[in-house]
Amino acid sequence: SLFRNAQFEISIAKPSGLPPPGGAEIAFAGRSNAGKSSAINTLAGHVRLAFVSKTPGRTQLINFFRLNCGASLVDLPGYGYAAVPEKIRRQWQGLIETYLKKRESLIGLVLIMDVRHPLTDLDRQMIDWFVPSGRPLHVLLTKSDKLSRGAASAALQAVRRELSAFGPQVTVQLFSSLKKAGVEETERVVAGWLGL
Ligand code: GDP
Repeated sequence: SLFRNAQFEISIAKPSGLPPPGGAEIAFAGRSNAGKSSAINTLAGHVRLAFVSKTPGRTQLINFFRLNCGASLVDLPGYGYAAVPEKIRRQWQGLIETYLKKRESLIGLVLIMDVRHPLTDLDRQMIDWFVPSGRPLHVLLTKSDKLSRGAASAALQAVRRELSAFGPQVTVQLFSSLKKAGVEETERVVAGWLGL
C-alpha cells in the first residue's frame, strides 16, 4: 500500500536546503498537536516514523520520507503553538509559505485538523497559501474517535459545507489514528493524485 515502508530521506531548516525538485511530493501540514505525526505513522504502519511531539512546535524542520512508488511524503512543521518565539514563528512562516507557494514538485497537500477544532485561522492561512496553486487539498479530520458517530459526521458535513466554495479541488474525510479509521480513504485520494 501507498505509505507502507516509507523511508526517512532528509530534514531541512531553510528553503535553500530544499533538494532539487524531482519526484512528486505530497505534503502533510497541521496545527501543532492536531495529530499529524500520529496520522503519518498510522498511514505508514510505523510506530515512530514521524516523531510524536512531546514539545509541540519545537522542531521547525521539513522532513522528507521516500515512498515505495518513488514519490515523497513531506512532513511540514506543526504551526500555532503559542510558546514558539516570534523570530522562530516568522522563520517557520517563511519556510512553509515558500514551500507551499513555490515548490514545483508539490502535487497535493494533506491538511490535518483535530475534528473537534477544525478550520482555525492558521488552517485557513494554509488553505489560502495553497489553493491558488490549483493543486488538490485533502483535509483529514482526525481524532474522530473522540466524538460520537453522530457528532463526527456532523463535524464532517460542516467542514465540507464550509470548504465547498473551493469546489472539487478540496476534499474532506474523518480519520482516527487510535482506531486506524480512514486509512484506505486517504490512500485512495493520494493514489489518485499520483495517477496510481
Ligand atoms: P502533531 O503535533 O500534530 O504531530 O500531533 P501528535 O501526532 O503528536 O498527537 C498529539 C496528541 O494527540 C498525542 O497525545 C496523540 O496521542 C493524540 N492523538 C493523535 N491522533 C489521535 C487520534 O486519532 N485519536 C486520539 N484519541 N488521540 C490522538
